[in-house]
Amino acid sequence: MSSQFEIVIGLEVHAQLMTKTKAFCFVAAKFGEKENSQVGPVSGGLPGALPVLNKEAVHLAVRAGIALNCKINERSVFSRKNYFYPDLPKGYQISQFDEPLCGVGQVDVVADGHTKTIGIERIHMEEDAGKSIHLASTTLVNLNRSGTPLIEIVSKPDMRNAAEAVAYLKKLHSILVFGGICDGNLEEGNFRCDVNLSVRPFGQKEFGTRTELKNLNSFRFIEKAIEFESARQIAVVSSGGKVIQETRGWDSAAGKTFSQRTKEEAHDYRYFPEPDLPPLYVTQEYIQDVRKNMPELPEQKRARFEKDYSLTSYDAEQLTLAKELADYFEKCVKVGATPKSAANWILSELLREIKKVEGADITQSPISPEQIAELISLIEKGTISGKIAKTVFEDMFVSCKNPTEIVKEKGLVQVLDETAIQEWITEVIQENPDVVAEFKQGKEKVFAFLVGQVMKHSRGKANPGIVGERLRKALLA
Ligand code: ADP
Ligand code: MG
Repeated sequence: MSSQFEIVIGLEVHAQLMTKTKAFCFVAAKFGEKENSQVGPVSGGLPGALPVLNKEAVHLAVRAGIALNCKINERSVFSRKNYFYPDLPKGYQISQFDEPLCGVGQVDVVADGHTKTIGIERIHMEEDAGKSIHLASTTLVNLNRSGTPLIEIVSKPDMRNAAEAVAYLKKLHSILVFGGICDGNLEEGNFRCDVNLSVRPFGQKEFGTRTELKNLNSFRFIEKAIEFESARQIAVVSSGGKVIQETRGWDSAAGKTFSQRTKEEAHDYRYFPEPDLPPLYVTQEYIQDVRKNMPELPEQKRARFEKDYSLTSYDAEQLTLAKELADYFEKCVKVGATPKSAANWILSELLREIKKVEGADITQSPISPEQIAELISLIEKGTISGKIAKTVFEDMFVSCKNPTEIVKEKGLVQVLDETAIQEWITEVIQENPDVVAEFKQGKEKVFAFLVGQVMKHSRGKANPGIVGERLRKALLA
């Protein structure tokens, strides 16, 4: 049944800009401080207080526009979006309405193996509201967040399923984080999303009636909410009903969306230009300057990793999924690790161990880049074999000790001494007459077994290269 309907999704993303102070007020914009300790005259809504636009916020918003290939409007206008709520002391939010800072843009995303271009409608600047904390018998208000600068990135209704929506959001998230625009912290609500969703029969040109799911701040929930909501709308439409245009919430415990506000109760924000702020003008020269000083974005970093470090495109892509991971890798290289080996250790052993704790990432690594580099150099110098290195690594992960120290303490230094190797070979040949005979009859397959036996005699400390070479000589003698 669902195959008769096409799902249409457009996303509005609110991203908090990483400025030191608020959008129009001189007080700090830091998360987690004592309640109501970061409220100034403007963010606190004192009568007569005049807003002053934060330069840093404009810089970051223009950066976002450039990173998302948007047209940057030389002139944009701030407006008042009026509504009453206890956590909005001014009675209006300063936002941009009909003349936003950034116009249309686009971004390419990969979902289900296909690349798709998602259109951006606009990016505008605005300020956040405070926070109401609803307790059993009372409501508390914390204004620390009030007036923190945001950008709202509005997509075109270009996405057709949950996978595309999530791929788009992840792409946006990584661009904003790599660009130093937003810290991307979803739990703190610094990157959150409204999902607009409608369905229509395949082939129909007009869009169906949409619902809007508000303030989702987890990729997993967004995916689930889209799946639930699209199935709900399809069920409504295919049983002859009509979707009501409304705002819906997501109940993560129940795994359902629920109606919050229908259109009849919808706000009329009575937008009008903010009289206390002149229009914002940015020159082409300014835009060029922001462009020149743009931090390296994920795609550029990936291309550079491939080229400068001769990594496979897969490794380069994996290493640039998160900025901290890319930084960790480059630190390893900087302190002397061979790039390819560093990539291997990070992407296989290190991340595998770290990810045993749910939600953990490279920032929680108990092993430093210097220690990874040291481990790699021990292998390359022949002090330990690759196999022993894995044991050393496991120890490092738990004890946080330096690899050289572990190798010394446990006596793991690789045996290069050929007389010792020769003795183990002789022992193995004596102990396995049948296998040796098979080898001599041309059964090459058993050779690996014999090498393994010699390695076992050495407790893993012999150099496998030398063992192979000597063993073959001994067997053919
Ligand atoms: P509003 O201010 O009411 O939220 P916007 O014009 O800002 O409206 O658009 C909000 C988002 O809704 C945009 O991302 C747009 O792509 C999306 N959208 C608009 N119409 C539909 C529709 N019929 N189905 C799905 N998404 C839609
Ligand atoms: Mg909206």
